Amino acid sequence: MDSYFDIIVAGGGPAGLTAAIYARRAGRSVLVLEKEGFGGQIASAPKVENFPGLPAISGAELADRLYGQAEALGARIELEQVLEIRDGRPWTVTTDYGTYRCAAVILATGMRRRTLGLPGEERLPGVSFCAVCDGAFYAGKDVAVCGGGNTALQDALFLADLCRHVTLIHRRQAFRGDPILAEALARRENVSFALDTVVTALLGQERLTGLALRDAAGRERTLAVDGLFEAVGQLPERALSASLVAVDAAGFIRAGEDCRTGVPGIFAAGDCRTKEVRQLTTACADGAVAALSACRWCEAAGAD
Ligand code: NAP
Repeated sequence: MDSYFDIIVAGGGPAGLTAAIYARRAGRSVLVLEKEGFGGQIASAPKVENFPGLPAISGAELADRLYGQAEALGARIELEQVLEIRDGRPWTVTTDYGTYRCAAVILATGMRRRTLGLPGEERLPGVSFCAVCDGAFYAGKDVAVCGGGNTALQDALFLADLCRHVTLIHRRQAFRGDPILAEALARRENVSFALDTVVTALLGQERLTGLALRDAAGRERTLAVDGLFEAVGQLPERALSASLVAVDAAGFIRAGEDCRTGVPGIFAAGDCRTKEVRQLTTACADGAVAALSACRWCEAAGAD
């Protein structure tokens, strides 16, 4: 099987798949490598309502459509984890399954989830990081969502349709997420808010039975719940980028609006790039820009 591609895209989220669509339409051979699941974070969004032209679509369906569009255009797409990128002219990309070479690499590696850092959170049944994936297990039960961004607000709305009661726990009064979502939540009878409040401990031995909470005034209480959905944001994926390209203090790849990193032939697109606004639309925009920059690079480098 051919192991040389004009462009290899590391990451199969909206930025990476959009890059593949643009690069294929420009006639370039493209390999997309994704380590976990196609669609990135958006695949677990219950509903996407801010993608222009698609007033309401599930994140999973949008991810499927992006994947299908890239594949139909002839992009090769593999579920493989990129372990190393080295050499340049051509770049050698090593994954857990093999080795590929390419003229240009687009890093579209997105973000990984932030956690609360509480003892037991990665192993205690009842703690989840994905409402769409796990919400059905909590039908008719009492759950809490922790976080104040759009993910937490959307997860709480999604769970309010399934669960007996949802408590949204946020460390501040003001939400970071869109007011339209917070207002929709406030109208739900089975949703309550624990604001200015943090989770200090997970309760339960075999599985989660409740949460220890502390508010801004220092008052402590427990909340009985069957499930906790953590939605406290994302951190940049540093594993690949740290040794390859310049990153900022938080770990985001330094690249301008043309998505060029300081390393010739390496481009960065989507949430992993330094930028002001991280949204689905800006990830897709980056994918397009990075692909066109990479195509120009291939042309200049004489890749045919
Ligand atoms: P986010 O916007 O960064 O929000 C993370 C939330 O978690 C914040 O409210 C933050 O509190 C809270 N938090 C962080 N660390 C915490 C800790 N240690 N303990 C307690 N709370 C903590 O993350 P996100 O909601 O995952 O969204 C990420 C990006 O995706 C955003 O740009 C968002 O708009 C976008 N998104 C868009 C959609 C959509 O509808 N298209 C859906 C989901 C996400 P503070 O507010 O106090 O910092």
